[in-house]
Amino acid sequence: MKRRHFLQVASVGTYATLVVPSAMFSKSSKPKVMTVNGCIDKKQMGVTLPHEHIVVDFIGAAQIDTSVYNLEEMYETALPLLMKLKEFGCTTFIDCTPNYLGRSPLLLQQLSDATGLHIVTNTGYYGAVDHKYLPEHVKTETPQELANRWIKEWEEGVDGTNIRPGFMKLSVGNGPISDLQRKIIEAGALTHKATGLTIAVHTGGNGAVLEELNIIEQQGVHPSAFVWIHAQNEEDTAIHLELARKGAWVEFDGLFPFNYQLSEQKKQEYLNYLQMMKREKCLHRTLLSQDSGWYDANKPQGGRFLPFHLIFQDFLPLLRKEGFTKKEVNLLLKENPYQAFAVRKRLKT
Ligand SMILES: [Zn+2]
Repeated sequence: MKRRHFLQVASVGTYATLVVPSAMFSKSSKPKVMTVNGCIDKKQMGVTLPHEHIVVDFIGAAQIDTSVYNLEEMYETALPLLMKLKEFGCTTFIDCTPNYLGRSPLLLQQLSDATGLHIVTNTGYYGAVDHKYLPEHVKTETPQELANRWIKEWEEGVDGTNIRPGFMKLSVGNGPISDLQRKIIEAGALTHKATGLTIAVHTGGNGAVLEELNIIEQQGVHPSAFVWIHAQNEEDTAIHLELARKGAWVEFDGLFPFNYQLSEQKKQEYLNYLQMMKREKCLHRTLLSQDSGWYDANKPQGGRFLPFHLIFQDFLPLLRKEGFTKKEVNLLLKENPYQAFAVRKRLKT
């Protein structure tokens, strides 16, 4: 296991500097996934958790200051749990903590270097929870101006580093969604058209997802560029099927190990979702994750940091017992995450 001191972080990230996005994603080569250490292909990506968090910070956009974080402590807390995850065969970890909520690209890069896990970070803004995590400029800027900020992060790196985002993490609350949330989604579609980055949106219930997809499609972007984060928030399962049939990615990602274990009830709930998607021939549009981790920057020692490996230890055996084949499990954990997150433009024809 390699170990670097955080005082040396300015010198790391050499892989990322070698990558030129426009040249890298030429039509002749297969689409790649962008990690904090540069791009990887499908085979390198392997078994992937598409929605987890190392750090979170709920203080709000007005007060957040990631420069005061105790990166050493965050690193020491996360490292053993990521090593444990790797033991279970996971090779890629998609970190869904956005800007203004604790995004820490250098920490992710250090953890990737130490564990050998591929880790992906993001660009974009989080509009749910009464806009608490939105910077002031969202109110005055146009969707294109917001998109320009995210496109710049793709081209140059995030937070003054040369670490590139691998997707957009956006967010809206329950439907009907607010004007600012609509603006963010439109900015996401504009960014996709310029960069090919996937638009992953934390989404509340009550039909919010239909409003999102409408905005994205109006901009000429194909639903396959859209990941519906927290699809389990929507009670109407007809909407899950409708979105999958349109080509969008339906992500059931709350297999959260409450009290450090997966409850029987939770496992059954997720089994039901996956059985429904399988029965309706929508498994090829389905993503699965835990939304676990959560070193809380405002709690002593980060509060309760939850493990990442329980999906492999406690849920996959149940899936196999219930008749999911190796091929179907690979679809959920390898093929689908690659297809969802590989960077390329997906436009409506
Ligand atoms: Zn999350």
